[in-house]
Amino acid sequence: MGFDLSKKRVLEATDYVAGGVNSGFRVGLLPHPLVFASARGPILLDIDGNRYVDYFLGMGPMMLGHSPGAVIAAARAQLDRSLLVAGQTETEYEAAELLVEMVPSAETVRFATSGTEAVQAALRVARAATQRSVVVKFEGHYHGWLDNVLWSVAPEAGLAGPRTSPTPVAGSEGQMADPHVAVLPWNAIGLLRDRLTRGDVAAVIMEPIMFNNAGILPLPGYLEQVRKLCDVHGSLLIFDEVITGFRVAPGGAQEMFGVLPDLTVLGKALANGFPVAALAGRRRYMDLIADRRVLQGGTYNTQSVSMAATLATLREIRTGVPHQRIARIGGRLIEGLRGAFTEAGLEAQIIGFPAVFNVRFGAADAQEYRDFLFADQALYADFAFALLRRGIRILPRGTWFLSDTHEDLHIDETLYAVRGVLAELSTTSSKGTT
Ligand code: PMP
Repeated sequence: MGFDLSKKRVLEATDYVAGGVNSGFRVGLLPHPLVFASARGPILLDIDGNRYVDYFLGMGPMMLGHSPGAVIAAARAQLDRSLLVAGQTETEYEAAELLVEMVPSAETVRFATSGTEAVQAALRVARAATQRSVVVKFEGHYHGWLDNVLWSVAPEAGLAGPRTSPTPVAGSEGQMADPHVAVLPWNAIGLLRDRLTRGDVAAVIMEPIMFNNAGILPLPGYLEQVRKLCDVHGSLLIFDEVITGFRVAPGGAQEMFGVLPDLTVLGKALANGFPVAALAGRRRYMDLIADRRVLQGGTYNTQSVSMAATLATLREIRTGVPHQRIARIGGRLIEGLRGAFTEAGLEAQIIGFPAVFNVRFGAADAQEYRDFLFADQALYADFAFALLRRGIRILPRGTWFLSDTHEDLHIDETLYAVRGVLAELSTTSSKGTT
């Protein structure tokens, strides 16, 4: 499998696109960033003519696959009606009603265009509601690329400071230090209790399942205890469900675990590839936005085509059919992967659910980010690259996303490639921890 045309085009493009790519997360992918020609169902084609079974799915949004008929038809029909009206449409009201019906803690919603900015709205609401400044975030959790949250997302062990009081580690040069962010290890209820006791915390924000690193579930009872502590100490609980929302269940992780946050950030699978995100939550907090004490805005909020796509996507997800299909097909994939890793004698963890799960090599009992540092991340990156060369595209950091267009033949193809790669790796690479 060759990647020469992609390589050539990306190199040429560096003359007029910074680094040849338009997101920092696309820098450094092996063998180099790829240039794609088209995408359909679960299949991607690149300009070298390579075909891939896709588990990136646009970094998660495409739960109904790359060309979902109903979503595309709705978007296409909307193109003839309106694009952007700087006002309200029936479509956005219908989409909002559906979202509020599906997400258990959502009483009202505000749409936005990216998860990053919806997180910012959540923090602003929390600070206004509590008249406090501090936001607690957890090591290994990602909440967008802006200055006040890009802390300790994937810090090196040597920079991260003591476990009980981590040093916030910036994710970028040029990032302003932020005295109002407190970083803690996740799944450590005692440390959170101690921090909340100080009485200055506006909000605790977390991915309810840590999918941006490692794939770690909340310990039994942890979310319930966090909920209780936030209530006792007057801090708001924010679930960042940009990955888990609509995927782990139609109502997200909060539906699955039965723990309700005050505010929820949604994105990705909400609009199957269209740029839509949302902040949803309890009315008494969302009312701060409603009466404009807290400003949330945006020229492109509820852009008509995106809203038509959102409505079509939510209607489809609410039927339960995509989840049923993915449960079966994803279940088969997870089982097949487990079998292949066991056969190869490789200690691998598969954590998550059919629609989104993480695979890591080693770090069997990981409960927080620092445990993930003992996983063999280099071997996993080799595994991902070797799979890419066999036509299977997975994220090198461990996450697998499934769509309801993946079928048995794609799973067969994937497992065949995985077995081939594992045989290849066992002869070229040593196992163990980094
Ligand atoms: N929160 C989480 C949990 C995410 O995974 C992401 C994106 N990967 C974001 C927020 C930011 O969303 P966006 O890329 O749409 O700005």
